[in-house]
Formats: sequence, structure tokens, C-alpha cells
Amino acid sequence: MIIDAHCHIWEEELMSEELRKIILDICARKDFDPSQLFNATVERLIREMDEAGIDKTVIVGIDYGFLFRGKVPYKGYNDYVANLIQEYPDRLIGLAGIDPRRGKEGIQELDRCMNELGMRGVKLWPQTGFFPDDYSYYPFYERAQELGAIILCHTGAPPPGTYLKYCHPVNLDKVAIDFPDLKIIMAHVGNPWISEALSVATKNFNIYFDISGWEGQFKFAPVALMQTLAQAKLGCGIKKVLFGSDWPLFTPIVSLKEWVEGIKKLKLPPPLKLMGLPELNKEEKEMILGENAANIYNI
Ligand SMILES: [Zn+2]
Repeated sequence: MIIDAHCHIWEEELMSEELRKIILDICARKDFDPSQLFNATVERLIREMDEAGIDKTVIVGIDYGFLFRGKVPYKGYNDYVANLIQEYPDRLIGLAGIDPRRGKEGIQELDRCMNELGMRGVKLWPQTGFFPDDYSYYPFYERAQELGAIILCHTGAPPPGTYLKYCHPVNLDKVAIDFPDLKIIMAHVGNPWISEALSVATKNFNIYFDISGWEGQFKFAPVALMQTLAQAKLGCGIKKVLFGSDWPLFTPIVSLKEWVEGIKKLKLPPPLKLMGLPELNKEEKEMILGENAANIYNI
């Protein structure tokens, strides 16, 4: 089974003006065609999943309301994600977008998303201005743990116009220790704080990470991708590594199909062999591509 553990879906009306500008800025810097990034409809996603042989995809809501105005309130974004997972129950898994600064209201929304809308967890976007390990969010994590909600948290360099200092992988260390039954996934292996992310995943049995957003490394710096995976094998273990794409943001570089096929064909480049790093075997690649996510989401 192949599972994409991190993917976005939107229509233009879900975007604040600020998010639109961020996407246009990414396109200008990387010379991407903006229409590829704005066209993130479910029809396109399902078509590209089929082409790539992806069985299931985790789609996320985002609560960006503390930083950006947003045309649709965050609960409306969650309703939008919920409608899509109800439309494609065998293909899509939903995570709610809730900012823990919403306090009691956020906990109620978590309850609603998990119990009424069929979501499986929550996406955190700390780059809008919060440290995930602040004690004031402990009631939120307490409830998430009780509900069996999976936490997917952005780690690593965030988009322009959002705050970098909140995005260190180590900000999840205390949460993982204080909520041992909570499963936490660090998005993007905390890039560029990769060794920090690997350390956090190695010392905490309940912390995982996804390789979404690494399509550029795959295409232009494969040594960096392979080094990260080989170090994961030696440290936290391959069971902590989840395939992800951050679709549609990197489709101008690598299609979903190329990304999946690329993982299947990964080979250790000669410089890494010289460093004594290990090759990944077929079983380990299958774990990354889907088995690990299936275990976390109980599929
Ligand atoms: Zn993302």
C-alpha cells in the first residue's frame, strides 16, 4: 500500500490574500507556473494519485487565522476537508487545521472534527506565531491524546511571510515526552534542521517525520535525500519515515508518479558508500512508501 502522508487541497476562495501572495512569491523565485499551484482540486489529486499508484492520501486543513485574515474561517476549511474525505472515503484521510491558541473553542473543534467529521488528527502550523510546547496548549494535547488524534506539525523553514523561530523540531520534544500516547509527525524532516529532527525522532518513540517537500533534493541533490534516509536507518529507524509530497507545491519539479518511482529506485551514491552509510532495501522502501503510515493511522 502506498500512502502520501502530507498533502494540501484548496480552491482559490479558501485562500487569504496573504497566502495567495506567498504562493505567487514561491512561483516567482522558483520559476513555477502559478496555475499548477493554485489548481489543487480533489479531481486533479485523485487523477495524479491514480497515475502514481498511491492508494491513500492524507489531506490537511490549515488554520492560519492568527496571522492572515482568511476568506473562510478555519472551521469552514475543516468542513471543506471533511466533505472531500466523505466523498472519497477509501482514498482520502483528513486532518483538521486548528491553532491551539484557540483554547476551549479549539478543543471543541477538535472534538467536532474527530467525532462528527471523521478526521484522524490535526495539522499544526506554528509558523503563524506559537511555540508548540507552551504549557497553555496542554489541554489541547490532552484531548488529542484521549481522542487518538495524530498530530502533524510543520517543522523546518516555513514560507515567506511566516515566522521561522517557532519551527524548530526540538519544540516537539517536550510535548512527545509529556504525552507519550500522542503520535506526532514532524513535516519535512525539519529541513534545514535535519540532524535536530533526526535526534528528536531518535530519542522519542512517538515522534515520526515525513519527507514531503524533499522533491527538490530528490531531483537536484539526491545525495542529501539519501544521506538523510540512511542516517534515519542508523538512528531512529526506518519505521519513523513517512512518504509525503506536500502536493501540489512541488509538482512543477517532480510529479507524484516520479516521486513514488524515485523512492522505489533510490540507491546509495558512491560518496555515501565511502562514508559507510547503509543502502535501503526493498522492504524498507515499502515501509517508507506506506506501511509506516498505515501503522500510525491503523489502516
Ligand atoms: Zn504542507
